Amino acid sequence: MSEIKTIAVLTSGGDAPGMNAAVRAVVRSGIYHGLNVLGVRKGYEGLLHGDIEKMTLRSVGDIIHRGGTILQTARSKEFTTQAGLEKAMSMMKIFNIDALVVIGGDGSYRGARDLSELGANVIGIPGTIDNDIGCTEYTIGYDTAMNTVLDAIDKIRDTSYSHERCSVLEVMGRNAGWIAINCGIAGGAEAVILPEKNFDIDKDIIYPIIEGRNRGKKHYLVIVAEGVGGAVEIAEYIEKKTDIITRATILGYIQRGGCPTIKDRVIASQMGNYAVELLLAGKKNRIIAVHNGKMTDFEINEALSMEKSIDEELVRLSKILAL
Ligand code: ATP
Repeated sequence: MSEIKTIAVLTSGGDAPGMNAAVRAVVRSGIYHGLNVLGVRKGYEGLLHGDIEKMTLRSVGDIIHRGGTILQTARSKEFTTQAGLEKAMSMMKIFNIDALVVIGGDGSYRGARDLSELGANVIGIPGTIDNDIGCTEYTIGYDTAMNTVLDAIDKIRDTSYSHERCSVLEVMGRNAGWIAINCGIAGGAEAVILPEKNFDIDKDIIYPIIEGRNRGKKHYLVIVAEGVGGAVEIAEYIEKKTDIITRATILGYIQRGGCPTIKDRVIASQMGNYAVELLLAGKKNRIIAVHNGKMTDFEINEALSMEKSIDEELVRLSKILAL
């Protein structure tokens, strides 16, 4: 029998579309199984200040389709100090929280691990558009962000074609090129510049553009990952070298918002429910992950030590198809 009576859920780090679906699933699955469920506002910052409310079936009504996070999120400096951590632990005792479900990225798991070392029971759910968490093949928000980028690419392509221009699009992903490589393939980019790969601007960008022009291309697209940056400078360089009018677009925070896709909603719902079922099964300090296409969970320290690298087959494919 599980001894868990009260669980709390928070969202931490950068927001991601689908976080609400995960919060909803934790709350509804928890209540379904007879647990008392609390919501912590503004991540660890709210936890250490006791910004905590009881969640009901209704408090998560009408949110499955909304981007962002109804619980809001924050980056808390105080929480990373020993005093902040102890304050958070003491709030967990005051509110009788037997387990905490943290929806966020690696930084949030490090915070959760610190809490677990003081005796808390924590479960992590991967929520970030960047898909940059080592232990999992998929993170909540990634699919929605990629669809937002693709929609932007299709729109930019219309104007780029009409004016025979080159467009350089900088997309999010922190130090990972997952959004960039997938959107480069799906959007038909001439070149995709990734933080995981060294690049030579003349060989990797200028040459395919000139080659394309000689074959009669009417527009050109270069995707630059956030971890490389410099889209404006790259655009200036392309224009100078090729005489093709080139515009840089930095998509920015638009990629973090919007209505989550069906994939994000379903995976977030599964992960939220999985978190509750792990706790009911007496599991402690686990991170939920998609591994070899299946939902699973890893011990928190093991999860934090795992690394993943960019999919070389996707990189190869993007080069073949850019010809
Ligand atoms: P994303 O990558 O989507 O922004 P994240 O969870 O990695 O998500 P962070 O800002 O790194 O985002 O972390 C969120 C919060 O977790 C921080 O504000 C901090 O309170 C806590 N945190 C981050 N790193 C650590 C750490 N090394 N030790 C303890 N707590 C941490």
